[in-house]
Amino acid sequence: PKLLEVKDLHLKIEDADILNGLSFSLEKGEVFALIGPNGCGKSTLAYTLMGINKYYPDQGQLLLNGEEIKDLPINERAKKGITLAWQEPARYQGVTVREFLSLGLKAKGEEVTEAKLRDALQKVAIRPEVYLDRFVDKSLSGGERKRIELASLILMHPELIILDEPDSGVDIVALNNIADMINYFKDSQSGILLITHSQEMLKYADRAALLCDGEIIRQGKPDAISEYFQSFCGPCKKAEECET
Ligand code: ADP
Ligand code: MG
Ligand code: MG
Repeated sequence: PKLLEVKDLHLKIEDADILNGLSFSLEKGEVFALIGPNGCGKSTLAYTLMGINKYYPDQGQLLLNGEEIKDLPINERAKKGITLAWQEPARYQGVTVREFLSLGLKAKGEEVTEAKLRDALQKVAIRPEVYLDRFVDKSLSGGERKRIELASLILMHPELIILDEPDSGVDIVALNNIADMINYFKDSQSGILLITHSQEMLKYADRAALLCDGEIIRQGKPDAISEYFQSFCGPCKKAEECET
């Protein structure tokens, strides 16, 4: 079976249709990009895949390695190897980098060792001796928090990693870092769902799809999707719908 298969997913929030029959699939070691304008349902899809409170589908299937997971709570999905990287880098008042990184390992029932924590930080070019005992809060820059978050993802070695706009509010250095990370997870055979509203990110994808109003209106090669997205004259208007 495929790593992830999403079939005919429907989700309403307070009677509004947010996801409207969304379908796609993702293989191990593949980067699948989902691009779409603001408000088209990208984060809603991410929350629905992760199983966050209130984001349980009204209809459709969510198959992980062929197994239906749509009724599983978030912690069980995490144990099965699904990980969501948040759109905004996490800020945890009073939690140190060491504690933050340990949480991910513990969630997967794995032993926490100093060597694992240091190795993960080094992979994202964060010096352990400087950062391990600092707090994950506003004293860190956005880029530093993002990298520390990526270190926690490395520690969890997820089967499926959902990156929700990993490029938002990030400087170029960290963006290179995101590229490295995508390649890292690809090499370790994770499946990557790369959610973005920026065409720039499509260059990291193997396949791409365009999301509009909770529906995938086109799938294909990243270049073709990028071109199509560019031809929009407004959010989710097809080129042929544009006034001349
Ligand atoms: P994106 O991530 O693509 O910008 P979202 O998934 O955040 O889009 O939102 C999709 C749509 O669902 C938007 O119209 C948004 O206003 C609406 N929406 C999202 N979350 C809620 C919520 N908790 N309550 C009401 N409407 C919501
Ligand atoms: Mg519906
Ligand atoms: Mg979003």
